[in-house]
Amino acid sequence: MNRRIEIVEVGPRDGLQNDPALMPTDVKLDFINRLIAAGVRRMEAASFVNPKLVPAMADSDAVMAAVPRGRGVKYIGLALNERGMRRALEARCDEVNFVMVASEGFGLRNQNATPEQTADLFDRIAVLAHDAGVPVSVTISVAFGDPFDGEVPVARVAMLAARAAKAGAVEIALGDTIGVADPWDVRARIDAVRAAAPGARLRVHFHNTRNTALANIFAAVEAGVDVIDASCGGIGGCPFAPAATGNVATEDVVYMLHRAGFETGIDLEQMIETAQWLETDGLKHKVESMLSKAGGFPRGPDPRVRSS
Ligand code: ZN
Repeated sequence: MNRRIEIVEVGPRDGLQNDPALMPTDVKLDFINRLIAAGVRRMEAASFVNPKLVPAMADSDAVMAAVPRGRGVKYIGLALNERGMRRALEARCDEVNFVMVASEGFGLRNQNATPEQTADLFDRIAVLAHDAGVPVSVTISVAFGDPFDGEVPVARVAMLAARAAKAGAVEIALGDTIGVADPWDVRARIDAVRAAAPGARLRVHFHNTRNTALANIFAAVEAGVDVIDASCGGIGGCPFAPAATGNVATEDVVYMLHRAGFETGIDLEQMIETAQWLETDGLKHKVESMLSKAGGFPRGPDPRVRSS
């Protein structure tokens, strides 16, 4: 099993997009710099969607123009359509993440497309990223259940994964947008996706809506997944999913992995401090994570920080 796990910090995008506090651009940049100082090297920082529908992401161009470049930090921009893809490339995102949707109910509301239509669209616009030499990844949203349609067939998730890989996605993320996955289903869907898209790297994206996110991550790591989305403080939610709550908290994931001997490159204490900064300054409201309240264990410098 790989002892190195890559954390993709999604706080500045998925975390902020639905937060009741609208974070000003300069505070967002402060947030991003704190995350980098805590060891984050890959993060979702922007979303090139309709600013009228997602006002928290309206400053994505300004954010991408001002983020610190270099130090090995890769910024991911989210795109749902051709216009978003072009904007993400113009904004010099290091990587574009496209969202396919595994179910019609959510798909029609979130991006006005059926599962097949999102796959067709990716076929057409992935070429833009390929031509620009920018890696493109695909998140399959509502891959474990849809808030409107209910259960989502495993076969449909596998079909979308195969189409994503065929169109050149370097990485495929399974997104539990509404937090309904269980660890055994995680295992089953990862196995199905791996069979359908054997060349693609797999990533997982869990929301902790029903308190199963860490168990799901355990199942994913046991199944060999080594890329995990998480948001500092556990902030986040989807504007188009009823009662959706936060992403799994980065510090909670890092704590569990470090306790088990995995390396993430993240400084747990600095990540906890960043979550506490969100509470006192960044968002000025409570965040959901456990570690920002309880602290790490044992106390003192983490021997696994920056060890690779
Ligand atoms: Zn999400």
